[in-house]
Amino acid sequence: MDKHLFQQLPKMDVLLAHPVLLTAQEEGVPYYALKEAARARLDRLRRGILDGSVEALPGLDALAVQTVEQARRACRPHLRAVINATGVVLHTNLGRAPLGEAAARAVYEAARGYSNLEYDLEEGRRGSRFSHVDGLLCSLTGAEAALAVNNNAAAVFLMLSALAAGKKVAISRGELVEIGGSFRVPEIMARSGAQLIEVGTTNKTHLSDYRRAVEEQGAEILLKVHTSNFQLIGFTEEVSLEDLVSLGREKGIPVFHDLGSGALFDDPALGVPAGPTVEESVKAGADVVCFSGDKLLGGPQAGIALGKKEYIQAMKKNQFARVVRIDKLTLAALEATLRFYQDHALAAKSIPVLSMLGAGQETLKARALEQARRLEERLGARCAVSTAPDVGEVGGGSLPGVPLPTWVVELHPAHLSVAALETALRAWETPIVGRVSHDRYLLDPRTLTAGDWEEILRALDAILD
Ligand SMILES: *Cc1c(COP(=O)(O)O)cnc(C)c1O
Repeated sequence: MDKHLFQQLPKMDVLLAHPVLLTAQEEGVPYYALKEAARARLDRLRRGILDGSVEALPGLDALAVQTVEQARRACRPHLRAVINATGVVLHTNLGRAPLGEAAARAVYEAARGYSNLEYDLEEGRRGSRFSHVDGLLCSLTGAEAALAVNNNAAAVFLMLSALAAGKKVAISRGELVEIGGSFRVPEIMARSGAQLIEVGTTNKTHLSDYRRAVEEQGAEILLKVHTSNFQLIGFTEEVSLEDLVSLGREKGIPVFHDLGSGALFDDPALGVPAGPTVEESVKAGADVVCFSGDKLLGGPQAGIALGKKEYIQAMKKNQFARVVRIDKLTLAALEATLRFYQDHALAAKSIPVLSMLGAGQETLKARALEQARRLEERLGARCAVSTAPDVGEVGGGSLPGVPLPTWVVELHPAHLSVAALETALRAWETPIVGRVSHDRYLLDPRTLTAGDWEEILRALDAILD
């Protein structure tokens, strides 16, 4: 231990009065954060001197810069924007669907002040929070009634609690799925008070299996769950919603459908990949249909239930509806997103999830080539840049097995491992999350905006310097 070093350590107030810290304060870094960071840095140096790991002190200027960096890091929000270079459009870990400008602005407006959330502006008295999107949802899907709640897990649970508690519900063994985050259909049913009647086998379920469940086991409700996060291939058979509905009609019992990732439309002309749509499910005659707001719909986290008036009404009246009710920021984003669906071409252009999914391989190839050229120009010998065709996925437990042909930019740094590059990009100010494959770092243009590419360029330039 070098006693001398202790005497050279700057005093706290000297460090705090350093011009670098004063400038940082003028730029908005709060004084408490600077003080905390200064104390932490000096403590660390003191401990280092004590245990002999610090043999020389940084200069005062360097110490000031380190202190400001640490204070800035501490002030950063924990939930931050990241750049998604994975090409996975509905990346559950990265927040699923990004909102478009109009929806984001609607959230801002709703957040900034008061709103008519539960106030009827025409009558001048209490209104309903459900009124803001019900009409839109019904006119877009042809449903009689609609209800938006916190998420689809909540919609399914509310549907079962309100309409199936104490009743026998028949469901195919092939549809007893786990959605993720320990949301398992059999357990959710048990919690809601519904009694599960398993029908058929894992790979094959016939209409006659459902019929037996009704006639011999007294099933009072038929439930279909879309197996959205896996695909059963080979010797398989499932019963269509249409057939279930006709059995339900014949027996006078309702049919519920958890559609999972409900697309509002699928239009091959717009390049949006085909999946079961909400409208089809409503048209097929499901009595209640539930789906997510932030999967293929491309809106905020929400759950939407559509269907016969009497059922939706019973769900709205259920005690549990309050527990899972939608908040005003979500409602604002949901309404703004739904409005675009009145014109499919407009929706495909304005809703980021749809425009990203609709981008064809030729478009993505052109973008990859253009960005690769810019990267090559900027990075020179520091990094090998190439492009290649690749296959992406929709993500978010949506459309499994539906290939999304894409074209990626591949990076191979000259003096840095691909793993180290991945770590450095993830630690960047605006963290960049890409894919690593075959000792290449991949950037998929599908999920990247022009602004993202600028930031990636800046990051690579600094990291490979
Ligand atoms: C995703 C999904 C859910 C859960 O929806 P969240 O909006 O994530 O709560 C429920 N059921 C199915 C079939 C799903 O695919």
